[in-house]
Amino acid sequence: MASYVKSLGQPTYRGKQIADWLYVKGAREVSEMTNLPEVLREQIASDAAITRSRVIKESAAPDGTTKYLLQLSDGETIESVLLPYSDRTSVCVSTQVGCRAGCLFCATAECGLVRNLTAGEIVDQVLTLQEQGGRRVTHVVFMGMGEPLMNMPNVLKAIHLLNDEVGISMRRITISTVGITPAIRKLAELDLQITLALSLHAPNDDLRRQLIPISEKFPLPELMSACKDYADRTKRRITLEYLLIAGVNDAPEQAAQLAGLLRGVMSHVNLIPYNEVPGKPYKRPAREAIAAFRSVLEEAGIEVTQRMERGHSVSAACGQLRRRTGLT
Ligand code: SAH
Repeated sequence: MASYVKSLGQPTYRGKQIADWLYVKGAREVSEMTNLPEVLREQIASDAAITRSRVIKESAAPDGTTKYLLQLSDGETIESVLLPYSDRTSVCVSTQVGCRAGCLFCATAECGLVRNLTAGEIVDQVLTLQEQGGRRVTHVVFMGMGEPLMNMPNVLKAIHLLNDEVGISMRRITISTVGITPAIRKLAELDLQITLALSLHAPNDDLRRQLIPISEKFPLPELMSACKDYADRTKRRITLEYLLIAGVNDAPEQAAQLAGLLRGVMSHVNLIPYNEVPGKPYKRPAREAIAAFRSVLEEAGIEVTQRMERGHSVSAACGQLRRRTGLT
């Protein structure tokens, strides 16, 4: 912020004042920043780095999960989700408008990538949902729209801002990636105390490439070795997300193959039963199939958790977020 105001020909302490308005006082409009000179307020009024989003729609599920449709300064829209639990409050943030990964099962993939979000727009989602929910956000998951590791500089900046200015500790931040191997290696070098989650979703490259087109560029042997190095270096256990889709990747033999793939990687598996997306052919497996898949992994000594279902009734669950046009 100091170098930002400096680039506008203003003294650096003005940066501190702006940060104070944004992060401490929760200002939503530049016009509220009354201790700034008029000329500076005019300069920053339309800058995406400073402006706050506008809530244009809010949908609450009976479990309290609330999805917000936010409009950005250029009119684009994104979705963010507030997840209140009894002992904590999580926010699921988007990192891009749309996404380029092209996952066949995901609603966000349909519009392709429109643009990256700025660090300010990522942090804004946390501040906005904190205000809206009226409770302090304790955890942030980068699991909304977009691929965080394809917007690394802004995501890293946002993590540091959340940590330094909003007071969310690194250990309470999780980044979920489709598996961009070189970016995982770069992240390992930074040795941050965040949690890394990998969207694995298939136990072999053939199937993975069918489901996640971009994974063709990042074959499993190198990807798994980057994850192993990440865990060894940061001493942080990796979360391996595995979406369960009926008849596609939920067979017991596929569970056995998955167990083999994970040998030697400090990790645990998080099973995500598929959330259906209108217009897509995929279905959630029956309860028994999920249990059978799970027990093969457990018998192989792998720690397994199952993602708690939240926000389903308002399409706020994993894979159901999309860019909306208009107010529909
Ligand atoms: N691009 C990142 C983060 C966004 S998606 C990533 O790929 O990890 C967050 C998680 O939801 C990912 O694991 C994603 O694969 C999963 N997901 C996508 N569509 C889904 C659906 N319809 N049902 C359940 N999970 C889904």
